[in-house]
Amino acid sequence: MKRALFAAATLATTVIALPVTATEKEPWQQAQETEVWEPVPAKVTVSESGVPSDAIVLFDGSGLSAWESVSDGAKAPWNIEGDVMVAAPKSGDIRTKQEFCDVQLHIEWQPPAEKDMEGPEGQGRGNSGVFFQERYEVQVLDSFGGETYPNGQAASVYKQHIPLVNATKPLSEWNVYDIIYKAPRFSDAGELTSPAYITVLHNGVLVQNHVEVQGPTAWIGHPPYEAHGCAPLRLQDHGNPSKFRNIWIREL
Ligand code: MG
Repeated sequence: MKRALFAAATLATTVIALPVTATEKEPWQQAQETEVWEPVPAKVTVSESGVPSDAIVLFDGSGLSAWESVSDGAKAPWNIEGDVMVAAPKSGDIRTKQEFCDVQLHIEWQPPAEKDMEGPEGQGRGNSGVFFQERYEVQVLDSFGGETYPNGQAASVYKQHIPLVNATKPLSEWNVYDIIYKAPRFSDAGELTSPAYITVLHNGVLVQNHVEVQGPTAWIGHPPYEAHGCAPLRLQDHGNPSKFRNIWIREL
């Protein structure tokens, strides 16, 4: 390396010493050759509450108009308390009315108080979930106090990828997920051409680093991919009054 640097320095000295004008320089000697002027990135501003100006707000406390019941497509049956959305146990999952493909998602969540949990242990501790395209779950669970199989703890890609570390906060605090999701691609014939990928920051800590999704995230078994297009974001009712707030999404 030192030798190469010396050679480059010698060459540079030689070039400077010669009476060469800018127009006579070889292309590789001109800074403009490596400047790319298009496309110009659109300007995005960020609100005081941290929401980018190009984000779609899915929930800010003002209502559930962006959501519907999965079971019958009717009004989302979950509750609002202040600026918080609370899952109504046994009312069923809810999903966005809008369909998405590649996205950046911001969502804040908090498990219920211990007395309101589905169960005191493992998967009963405030289980919910964020399902991309209704199929691929990033787990929501109290993994501060509870113990469960690591590929089913908070921030796991359920039954597929264990988070790199456990960044779950105590029950009294809110958790934040910032997730980058790349949707799977399928050929016209319905064959998988590219799997889905997920990157998760849990409370600002990288816990899933562009992991490959192996198919729908099932409780039992490993079902294969089935071709689909853009699809809603889904939140799971697992029998707990899990809380969510400040949900926004950016289409990529
Ligand atoms: Mg779940």
